[in-house]
Amino acid sequence: MTRPIKRIVIVGGGSAGWLAAGVIAATYVSGEREGGLQVTLIESPDISTIGVGEGTWPSMRKTLSRIGISETDFLSRCDASFKQGTEFFDWQPERGASYTHPFSPPHGFDQFNPASAFLALRGQPRFDQTVCAQTTLFEEGQAPKQLTAPEYVGASNYGYHLDAGKFAELLQEHCVTHLQVEHIIANVSAVTPASNGDIASLETDRTEPIEGDLFIDCSGTRGLLIKEHYKVDFKPLGHFLFNNRAVATQVPYLDEQDPIASCTLATAQEAGWIWDIGLTSRRGVGYVFSSHHQSNDQAIDNLYQYIEKSLPAEAARRLTTRVIDFVPGHRRTFWHKNCVALGMAAGFIEPLEASALVLVELGAAMIADELPPNRLAMDRVSRRYNDRFSYRWTRIVDFLKLHYVLSRRPEPYWRDHSCEKSIPEALVEQLETWKYRSPWHEDQFHADEMFPSASYQYVLYGMGFRPNQRRRLARGRDQQDKLGEEIFHKTKQEAKRLRQAMPSNRDLLSKIKAHGLKRI
Ligand SMILES: Cc1cc2nc3c(=O)[nH]c(=O)nc-3n(C[C@H](O)[C@H](O)[C@H](O)COP(=O)(O)OP(=O)(O)OC[C@H]3O[C@@H](n4cnc5c(N)ncnc54)[C@H](O)[C@@H]3O)c2cc1C
Repeated sequence: MTRPIKRIVIVGGGSAGWLAAGVIAATYVSGEREGGLQVTLIESPDISTIGVGEGTWPSMRKTLSRIGISETDFLSRCDASFKQGTEFFDWQPERGASYTHPFSPPHGFDQFNPASAFLALRGQPRFDQTVCAQTTLFEEGQAPKQLTAPEYVGASNYGYHLDAGKFAELLQEHCVTHLQVEHIIANVSAVTPASNGDIASLETDRTEPIEGDLFIDCSGTRGLLIKEHYKVDFKPLGHFLFNNRAVATQVPYLDEQDPIASCTLATAQEAGWIWDIGLTSRRGVGYVFSSHHQSNDQAIDNLYQYIEKSLPAEAARRLTTRVIDFVPGHRRTFWHKNCVALGMAAGFIEPLEASALVLVELGAAMIADELPPNRLAMDRVSRRYNDRFSYRWTRIVDFLKLHYVLSRRPEPYWRDHSCEKSIPEALVEQLETWKYRSPWHEDQFHADEMFPSASYQYVLYGMGFRPNQRRRLARGRDQQDKLGEEIFHKTKQEAKRLRQAMPSNRDLLSKIKAHGLKRI
């Protein structure tokens, strides 16, 4: 039990496996840990990666920088583009209804809650446009930074859209070349347990048994170690969030100079929503829906109809589509004995708000930062890990569900979503609270909440939620209104400045490919 943790074995070479390898190896490659640390990644030559998962959070900047990858290389190699948030279309039945959830919080949000001043405004302006300058950059596909800005630094907060296949390739190359990660191509065929129930080693079809002190299961939905070997319980979430199938495709640009959207476009459909992600080389488009509410054929038809708005019908209908099934939910515990599950092996809910890769980043960072020195210390770390991530998954469910419950769309899928028994209890309570006081920092129980109260405000007011008792919400109104006016005015000025200063996403990405960003 006191033997030092020296060998980390990762099963799976998708985004989760390589991100974990990169973060852990980059933390210990300098040999700070006594006796060094060996990271080995085993990847099947026969089972392909899931190949989707192309929207990230701003956290990816920190992760890539921690791994030691240059932003210029990442953008060029992964056909990546800048993402500044999500724009939602048709989530309400009114024609042309839209709102955004930008990555930047409202202006002055650390000191001032804009909700009551906003709600007192006449003329029903849009919340996002009133409180946050970044939203204006979405409209013309403008970038969040200029060519002169250093790598990973932006004028507005940003994440990325990326090609998942190319991303795994880049991470692999970097991990193997610069971080001494051992890469084994083989199928894991059996697990050899130790007497205490830990995993002692893995057998493969091509190598000697591979021994390890800590095993990270990144084997995708199959969950080779956490599910097949340990049979850790699964917590299904389909009764809250109904989507369980996606039909995905890749859409070419008509012209290589076509604008690249600088946010994910999320367009509601009869039984789900369509994501539309702009890369430099193509768009990634897919319809995620509930198979209980719509058939595959209807869903594929809806997807083609959507694509036909930007591509001739004949070309749109020739695109090949891929159907991906998933069961929304997650493992009840993520770290069991000497095995941690990350990525699809830990769980998946749906692509809304791109919460999957960020969980991988957070998980990998916690494993690296709190890596127990020996097996004796591991159970304490695993308990903390499980508590923290159970909480995070619960909050993700609440936040994703918020997008659906406020919709007045008439189709059965949407009506089922607003049925009270499908809403998590905590969210029902929050919705009641927000009738007389807006989301604010006191709703955050942890310093490192995944979705800050600003995110709740963007979705809540973007979906048209209005409190019942305006008078109470607008307490202290004169002063608030004055402050509100000043802040909203500053937002407008900032928006104007950004619009003038920022290049288009397409322009900046082409220049970065040609000249590079200032390396840090
Ligand atoms: C429709 C859809 C859309 C999504 N969109 C987003 C998004 O926009 N943003 C986001 O953050 N996330 C998104 N996700 C989630 C995201 O795709 C995944 O979290 C991410 O790709 C990580 O996948 P993974 O590495 O866990 O699994 P996979 O990519 O499936 O990789 C599994 C790996 O395990 C290996 N393996 C399996 N069995 C064995 C074996 N016996 N021996 C050796 N190796 C083995 C395989 O070869 C493969 O390398 C989406 C998911 C879906 C389904």
